[in-house]
Amino acid sequence: MRSTKPLGLAAMAAAAALTLTACGGGGDGGDAGGSGDGVRIGIKYDQPGLGYRDGSEYTGFDVDVAKYVAGELGYTEDQIEWVEAPSANRENMLANDQVDMVFATYSITDERKQTVDFAGPYFVAGQDLLVRVDETSIQGPEDLEGKNLCSVTGSTSAQKVKDDHPGVGLFEQPGYADCLTALESGQVDAVTTDDIILAGLASTDANQGKFKVVGNTFSEEQYGVGLPKGSDQCQAINDAITKMVEEGAWEEAVTANTEGADYRYNAELNPPEPAPCA
Ligand code: GLU
Repeated sequence: MRSTKPLGLAAMAAAAALTLTACGGGGDGGDAGGSGDGVRIGIKYDQPGLGYRDGSEYTGFDVDVAKYVAGELGYTEDQIEWVEAPSANRENMLANDQVDMVFATYSITDERKQTVDFAGPYFVAGQDLLVRVDETSIQGPEDLEGKNLCSVTGSTSAQKVKDDHPGVGLFEQPGYADCLTALESGQVDAVTTDDIILAGLASTDANQGKFKVVGNTFSEEQYGVGLPKGSDQCQAINDAITKMVEEGAWEEAVTANTEGADYRYNAELNPPEPAPCA
């Protein structure tokens, strides 16, 4: 079930797109005003409590942080254009000038920093597992040898399983909602990604009582604001995040967006200090 082939293709497409960008000569130099007088913000559309689209409504913690930051940068809410940014497409969307910023449970990693810049972090999550509610044999990734696990292409979650647990059958999907369908049907035994994402998915009306988060995190995921390489917006965004925390709006946003989900953020790691800009 390991999907080597689709991943290989995605990696090739990513490389091709990056090459194109490199040859294209930089364009408008990475300020956040790429689309007229508005701002295009990449978010997830299928992660309840973080980035979620319901018709013309966009909700979640990432959306709230993005609105606050955009406000501090001088944009009104109706100047924000929300764009779906799936896990596998985030670097390309920034490199190809399809979005100005990404707030999409986007972990800061050295590998991603080769292609994009990050402001923040504005949240720290941890990778965990989601299992069916009657499951008792899975307490951590070491219990998954010989079992099937679902994660999302282009995520740090899928990469960590490939690196650290090569004996686990990894089934990659484009989004986490697809993984929950596979978990419910028995096609896989667990879903892995960040604890806050799993808690949000498990708490929707449709999923109530079906799944549980194992609660044994095995990574630290620092959520950053993805920016085009060479952007001059990092410091202004960090200042906005700091202000959001100081004003209490950060705490309010986390609380409101995790209400009803069985989730409490790690208070030793949150709220994080934004890292110095390069
Ligand atoms: N935070 C992880 C990442 O950036 C997993 C969640 C996601 O796919 O957005 O890859």
